[in-house]
Amino acid sequence: MNLNDLFAIPRQRTPDKLALETTAVDGSPVQLTYAQLFDAAKRLAAGLQSRGLQKGDRVAFYLANRPEFVIAYLAVIRLGAIMVPINLRYRRLEIGHILRDSEPRLLLSGRAQLAILDQVDEADKGSLEDVLLVEELDAWMADPTALVPPVVEADDLALIMYTSGTTGRSKGAMLTHNNVLATVTGLLAAWAWEPDDALLLTLPLFHTHGLVVGLHCALAAGATTLLRPKFETEAVLRDLRSGHPTLFFGVPTLYVRLLDALERLSPEERDFSAMRLFCSGSAPLAAETHQSFTRLTGHQILERYGMTETGMNLSNPYAGPRVPGSVGTPLPGVAMRMVDPATFADIAPGEEGLLLVRGSNVFAAYWRAPEKTAESSVHDELGRRWFITGDLARQDPASGYVTLLGRSHELIISGGFNIYPREIEELLESWPGVAEAAVVGRPHPQWGEVPVAYLVCEEERSEIDEAGLRAYCRARLASFKAPHAFLYVDKLPRNAMGKVQKHLLRDE
Ligand code: AMP
Repeated sequence: MNLNDLFAIPRQRTPDKLALETTAVDGSPVQLTYAQLFDAAKRLAAGLQSRGLQKGDRVAFYLANRPEFVIAYLAVIRLGAIMVPINLRYRRLEIGHILRDSEPRLLLSGRAQLAILDQVDEADKGSLEDVLLVEELDAWMADPTALVPPVVEADDLALIMYTSGTTGRSKGAMLTHNNVLATVTGLLAAWAWEPDDALLLTLPLFHTHGLVVGLHCALAAGATTLLRPKFETEAVLRDLRSGHPTLFFGVPTLYVRLLDALERLSPEERDFSAMRLFCSGSAPLAAETHQSFTRLTGHQILERYGMTETGMNLSNPYAGPRVPGSVGTPLPGVAMRMVDPATFADIAPGEEGLLLVRGSNVFAAYWRAPEKTAESSVHDELGRRWFITGDLARQDPASGYVTLLGRSHELIISGGFNIYPREIEELLESWPGVAEAAVVGRPHPQWGEVPVAYLVCEEERSEIDEAGLRAYCRARLASFKAPHAFLYVDKLPRNAMGKVQKHLLRDE
């Protein structure tokens, strides 16, 4: 089975169902039924084929959340071609790297992005035969009856998604149709997706959260996607109150922004009773955010954990306890192991270690980087490949629930002791006046490294009782974990998905 087969099911069963509700590039509303969406994709596929696009060719997308993103993606995978999404925040060097590395024949973008694309070195754009602008997409459409669809196998690539690259050059994770299918079918079952669902999607389609978890699941379920160009608090609150959406997917920073507004609303104004599920992922959701959201809305956020290379790995249950601060248990079809980060030997239940995963959801390889692919996994005695997530974690031996403790390269080792930044950050964020905390290691002549904390203060409390905070940390943490310094910043550097970019703090 490939993704085209999967999407054909709702297209044939409910052609008149609303698939996509969104806005065009000129701001006008767009509504497409399943039949209209897939007809448009077929016409575009016919047009692209007539101009020579073939199976295995790459098509880069540098585009905001627009209907054309969805139409063109469906056209590309119909042809067995490969979509390469580019983060819209990327500029000259980052875009140049992805274009040079993936060598796409076509680039899909919009007029608003042309000034940025013009700055990219011509040498990096060497493989491009054409730039398709969404404003001119109609000119690329052709008679759909002319389309000769190629055979697309489950192991053919659907996507090359570039990782955020906080530890070096970003790598292209090659995802097959089967890899994406594995995540999608796991989530359809685990989160009880239904055709009556409507997903409010404000996350960017260039990232796995918006694209794979959001759009793919909604299309596979035969549900409606309410696609928004970006997250705007007031607009989201209006949507949530409207009774139309049943699902919302966010990253923690979006929930923090929502909470800020919710505190000021009356119970009627924060009545989201039509909603069935709020999910969070891509970065750690503070237990406090989870609890405040429940207090104000009555909804328990379901936190899950995944990554570009693997799709989704673990999730809190749909029915069953959703534990704040935990990412739950493996999704259907995913196996996990906890190992020693240095030796890769299995560790005792309940110990802290490195998380490995295995399953059809795990990517095929890094694009044109066999040595990086080889480094990214270990093999067990049965010869099975386990992907090294790079995430440190602890699994509760009784419940099996997993708590993430931070990236392995963010682990601080002080005098031979391991310090997991997340534990200290959670504690600091529970102190009055601290809105956000990020703990990083700083070189130290005696201890090797010591933790220091970057703090963002809540607006109304610009003064932090630092002596009190030090005593609070000392009373609750082993002495080697207590931050050696508190540094105040207006905000933490975050990427497009709200992940704190600790390497930028360390470089300061
Ligand atoms: P990306 O490939 O951009 O999706 O980033 C994947 C990384 O995001 C994972 O390896 C984790 O470090 C982090 N991540 C994803 N979900 C969560 C979560 N629920 N809690 C904490 N970190 C997360």
